[in-house]
Amino acid sequence: MSDTPNSPDIPAAFESTAGNFVRDLVQADNEQGTFAGRVQTRFPPEPNGYLHIGHAKAICVDFGIAEDFGGICKLRFDDTNPVTEETEYVDAIVADVRWLGFEPAEVVYASDYFEALYQWAEHLITTGFAYVDDQDADTISAQRGGYGKPGIESPYRNRRVEENLALFRRMRSGELPDGSHVLRAKADMQHDNMQLRDPIMYRIRHEHHHRTGDDWVLYPTYDWAHGQSDAIEGVTHSLCTLEFDSHRALYDWYLQHCPLPGDQPRQTEFARLELTYTVTSKRKLLQLINDGVVDGWDDPRLPTLCALRRRGYPAVAIRNFCDFIGVAKTNSRHQIEMLEWFVRNELNRVAQRRMTVLRPVKLTITNWPAGHSEWVTLQNNPENAADGSRDVEFTGELWIEHDDFKAEAPPKYFRLTPGAEVRLRGAYYVKCTGFTADADGTVTEVLATYDPDTRGGNAPDGRKVKATIHWVSTAHAVDVTAALYERLFDAEVPGERTGDPFDDLHPNTREIVHGKAEAALGEVAPGQVVQFERLGYFAQDGEQAGLFHRTVGLKDEWANVQKRGK
Ligand code: ATP
Ligand code: MG
Repeated sequence: MSDTPNSPDIPAAFESTAGNFVRDLVQADNEQGTFAGRVQTRFPPEPNGYLHIGHAKAICVDFGIAEDFGGICKLRFDDTNPVTEETEYVDAIVADVRWLGFEPAEVVYASDYFEALYQWAEHLITTGFAYVDDQDADTISAQRGGYGKPGIESPYRNRRVEENLALFRRMRSGELPDGSHVLRAKADMQHDNMQLRDPIMYRIRHEHHHRTGDDWVLYPTYDWAHGQSDAIEGVTHSLCTLEFDSHRALYDWYLQHCPLPGDQPRQTEFARLELTYTVTSKRKLLQLINDGVVDGWDDPRLPTLCALRRRGYPAVAIRNFCDFIGVAKTNSRHQIEMLEWFVRNELNRVAQRRMTVLRPVKLTITNWPAGHSEWVTLQNNPENAADGSRDVEFTGELWIEHDDFKAEAPPKYFRLTPGAEVRLRGAYYVKCTGFTADADGTVTEVLATYDPDTRGGNAPDGRKVKATIHWVSTAHAVDVTAALYERLFDAEVPGERTGDPFDDLHPNTREIVHGKAEAALGEVAPGQVVQFERLGYFAQDGEQAGLFHRTVGLKDEWANVQKRGK
């Protein structure tokens, strides 16, 4: 784990009651001396896209279990499909895992084992457990049968070992075209589990591989590569998501038929992480990009790790969230508001406060001495005294939020309106005396007087105001651009209604606003998150100076979701 330990101050109300059955299982293994007390795991992404929040859970489980038991976890690229895989994705995945706070014991590739896997395939042929089939993919698939429907044996199933070996070597040599032959396991064509009905182990694909180049024209299937790679590495607990449940019997079958160098690894499946209002499937994420709904893999509206990072989500908040939801055996969809709660909780501790006006209207203090300015001292983070304070320049001409003034105030509106008095954060009380508006009725300037006796924001006569608003001196302001995001989908479960998540796309998910900020905002480092007072948390873009992404608002929406009993 990195130098950012999990946040210590999660309120007791939010302490997780969710268990982690994988941890219990490994604990039991250790007590019984299975694997001689050794714990080794792996995180096995396919480098065909960027990692998303669902992968973060798998990373926390795989690396977390190894860490809990003093074991190791490798990052293994499952790069068995040359067509969809790219080095760009490999590099991004390594960076994302590190960012999340985990250091792989080693970065390895299934393609490192292509030769070893090939040798084991010859072993299976030699021992009578694999054969070359000359039929095409459709025929093989049709013969597989179904539940209650018997499988049909291939006419090539009982080929002699020598013939199989010779053909398999020719498949490797490159002389046979794509689709002409496959290698299949000779398992059980009548098995109740379709996975065991003579699954395909190798296909011929004359494709360039991002690591092995043109060395191979023979590529292993996921099932053939996965368990064998685990065994070669010495993995003890092979943890994956529930959809691999039906593959476990095949995982075991392959391992039982190979001359393993050590203990046979064991596969255990856990629930996928899904979130409301978003999708976590690389295919759908790619479609959002290709359709131009978002700008790219790191568009802050996506649930990819690079997007969440750009948006200002702290890695520790994601880890805390994953710990909190626990590890279970049944799939469930978690409220996005819960993840946001963890983000807000962390940022509240670490983000400095700054005053920014996103929809500015001018406030003129008519009794302010001409040309005069003074410094107002504000705490950088009331939650953390160590962050100190800063001085902000105050004058008689300020920007305030358009929303903080109303010509005609509705009931319970306590901010500026003619005759009303408010506190300007850290500065003075001001009383609204009037305003100007253009021909359309849009307010162009608010007029007020200030009370010089209220410096610091308190009245010596004890009179109270009901609102404190933020401000920025017009003469000292810097320009700021803020990107405000809505959820990408309107529906909690995108696609639930029609089957197509794209039917639930929210029409306007990004609003760009141009505002004014106190001078110190110009010094925020790329990637740093600050709280715009009263507005939310915002992350300085990694590249474009002056551009801020809204990470999350200030209001705890999870509390409301819980109250609704969801
Ligand atoms: P996708 O469905 O987005 O294409 P994938 O399962 O194909 O994802 P892989 O790269 O194969 O992506 O996944 C690497 C690991 O991450 C696997 O062990 C997989 O089980 C796990 N994983 C993928 N998605 C999730 C998820 N939503 N929740 C938890 N774990 C996940
Ligand atoms: Mg996959």
